Amino acid sequence: MRKTIKISLSVASLLLLSVHPVLAANADNITGLSTQVVFIITIIVSIIFGLILTRVAAENRQAKGRMFATKAKGRGELDPNEVLQELKGLSGSAKNQKKAAMAISSLLEEKVDEKMTIVKQELTDKYGKLVEEKSKAAADAQKKFKKTLNEKKQTEAIVRSVAAGVVVVNNKGEVLLMNPAAEKLLDTKKEDKVGRQLTEDAKEEQLFSIAKATSLDGATDIEIDGDENTKKTLRSSSAVIEDENGQTVGMVTVLNDVTKQKELDEMKSQFLSNVTHELRNPIGAIKQSIAVILEGTAGELSEPQEKFLSNAKRNLDRLSSLVDDILDLSKLEAKKMELTLKPSSIATVINEVRVTLDTWTKNKGIHLVKNIQEDLPEINIDPNRIIQVLINIISNAIKFTPIDGTITLGAELSDKKNELIMTVSDTGVGIPKEDLPKIFGKFQQAKNRAAGDKSGTGLGLTIAQELVGLHGGEISVESKEGQGTTFTFTLSMNLTEESSSK
Ligand code: ADP
Repeated sequence: MRKTIKISLSVASLLLLSVHPVLAANADNITGLSTQVVFIITIIVSIIFGLILTRVAAENRQAKGRMFATKAKGRGELDPNEVLQELKGLSGSAKNQKKAAMAISSLLEEKVDEKMTIVKQELTDKYGKLVEEKSKAAADAQKKFKKTLNEKKQTEAIVRSVAAGVVVVNNKGEVLLMNPAAEKLLDTKKEDKVGRQLTEDAKEEQLFSIAKATSLDGATDIEIDGDENTKKTLRSSSAVIEDENGQTVGMVTVLNDVTKQKELDEMKSQFLSNVTHELRNPIGAIKQSIAVILEGTAGELSEPQEKFLSNAKRNLDRLSSLVDDILDLSKLEAKKMELTLKPSSIATVINEVRVTLDTWTKNKGIHLVKNIQEDLPEINIDPNRIIQVLINIISNAIKFTPIDGTITLGAELSDKKNELIMTVSDTGVGIPKEDLPKIFGKFQQAKNRAAGDKSGTGLGLTIAQELVGLHGGEISVESKEGQGTTFTFTLSMNLTEESSSK
């Protein structure tokens, strides 16, 4: 408005300046009244002019405002600074400002709506997908859970119905699972044991035996003391449970009541021992009689008679050694074998063995070599039993070593000097790899024997192992087919009557 007045006044001044020389030149002819009229007309004309200019300017600003809105809409964006500038430019008219503001606001609203719709759609899609994925994962998890639950139920049912006792402990020794058979065998209640140490609050000796047994791998027999009816033997086999990283997470123990089996085994051993004992005397008597006849004391023998009697003697010898072996083994298994310990020179023991086997080795052309450490101290052993061990091992070596082979007998003190290490090496046929783990078993013979070879009982090494064990030692074998075999056994240097009877 102020601009309009300014323009009107400037136009009036210009008109006045332009009419002034005309008025001055005709001053004389023009009266004072007409001068005033001219002035007034000039002012009115100026005002009209000013108003026209103002109107034109307003129209211009409106057109500019519309153009700006269209431009912004065309670009699809609104620059806040631009809008501010444009609004400033429109400050001349409140009405126009309001109009422009409304246009911008509606445009903004439109834009915001548009953006909102896009964002909303994007979010709906995104969250829809997410929800879909989550529901699929939840369904999968549910399926897996159900499957695992079913498997768990199945496993529990199997474990429950297994006739053997099953006890599972974690790595802290706390009971995780115990089936009804185990409850019965251990005479305890699952509820009292689950989550607790197996040995906790155990009054019974049996639980301590179980705890001791569960720390071992392989099968262990546990004798549970009690009266005639409650006394039993449990055979426990334990296995370590490992997670996927190989960490021990617990142990599973399977318990079997082998009381009856043990009783039967004992009865069988007892029967064998009785029978063999009863056979021993008649066999001895027959052997002696045959020996007398073969010597010719009872009269001269024809060739066929001597042949048949020699054959009978050989078979009788075999029978006699079988009877002796069975008797020895029964005694060893029943822990009734008693050692007669005495300080002995191992060189003397070895010499006795050599003398016993001398004829056989010479007949077969085998070289028996000694490799004995000098100045070996005396050792507390049952010399007759160690001679038996050496004869069992060396007679096998002679049997399985071809003519001209060598058998080396070694004896030396261990580094700690607490053991005597004895070795018997031969250059014989060797033992097939697959037979090595079983040759110490009862009545076990390897497949390296010649077809039709019926010699031996398969008890020699079993007895040797038991006797070495009684002397506080261990026996082992190394063999390569076609190259030879080495048996090594140890004997404790500190053996006493008490330690040998354990
Ligand atoms: P056996 O009465 O048959 O000799 P053992 O228990 O003494 O019974 O030996 C078991 C088996 O081990 C033998 O039958 C034989 O097959 C094998 N064996 C033992 N020692 C040797 C050896 N030095 N060389 C080859 N095989 C052997």
